[in-house]
Amino acid sequence: MFSSFPIRRRLRIDDFEIGRPLGKGKFGNVYLARLQENHFLVALKVLFKSQIEKEGLEHQLRREIEIQAHLQHPNILRLYNYFHDSRRVYLILEYAPRGELYKELQKSHRLDEQRTATVRIMEELADALIYCHEKKVIHRDIKPENLLLGLRGEVKIADFGWSVHTLSLRRKTMCGTLDYLPPEMIEGRTYDERVDLWCIGVLCYELLVGNPPFESPSHTETYRRILKVDVRFPSSMPSGAQDLISKLLRYQPFERLALAQVLEHPWVQAHSQRVLPPSAQMAS
Ligand code: ATP
Ligand code: MG
Repeated sequence: MFSSFPIRRRLRIDDFEIGRPLGKGKFGNVYLARLQENHFLVALKVLFKSQIEKEGLEHQLRREIEIQAHLQHPNILRLYNYFHDSRRVYLILEYAPRGELYKELQKSHRLDEQRTATVRIMEELADALIYCHEKKVIHRDIKPENLLLGLRGEVKIADFGWSVHTLSLRRKTMCGTLDYLPPEMIEGRTYDERVDLWCIGVLCYELLVGNPPFESPSHTETYRRILKVDVRFPSSMPSGAQDLISKLLRYQPFERLALAQVLEHPWVQAHSQRVLPPSAQMAS
């Protein structure tokens, strides 16, 4: 196995054997692919330049490629490299063999399994976001569609940085979900990395309940409920989980539980399956 991408030179499409489609994106498709010379598996995301140009997103794409290429964390989907030809831009991405978290969610779990799985996802996301925020990167778009799963079921945050403009596009076309938007983004206020805290609160709720907390028949109603932080917990939800979620879903960003405290929250600790390295155990 290779621990890092095994080729340094500039690549071309002929260097790959293209396999099955993994999914459709707004600007093109994603395929399973492997390098001819050493059979290294990747996900190849193919974007059409014409569509990127039509939307005026060239600048944004360049910036976001820069950001994602520099993030290296086990819970962040790697962007190994990229290249382009006259019509397309190709992103060489880490392949996430277990696909979308979304689909995994639909398979019914026993309650205790669902809780350990949720805690694991929260811990992995907190870890990855601590890393990002240290690097001054805000994801802004944490939600099930943007989370993929690695071979051992570990979360991989995908769609990095695309969020800023995909958000504005979605708002224009009213097609994407509004369910994860934090109040400060709805109100068009300035925002910071604490938007990600709101989003993992919404995610934690959706993982446990099956639908996001502010889901409503109309967009106006969703907006209204988000701004009032009108969250209702089913009685089946453990009180520890309610406590964690209510500490993340705060209208005021500064009142939200910090990522390090998410890791130390009693409900997270109670369900944690984490094996800490011996040095960390000794320290605690
Ligand atoms: P964007 O958010 O950039 O507009 P998109 O959300 O439309 O793009 P992606 O999420 O990147 O497109 O990819 C579409 C789908 O392809 C994903 O939902 C997922 O099912 C699949 N996919 C993408 N990347 C990978 C990967 N690295 N490994 C496995 N499957 C992937
Ligand atoms: Mg996506």
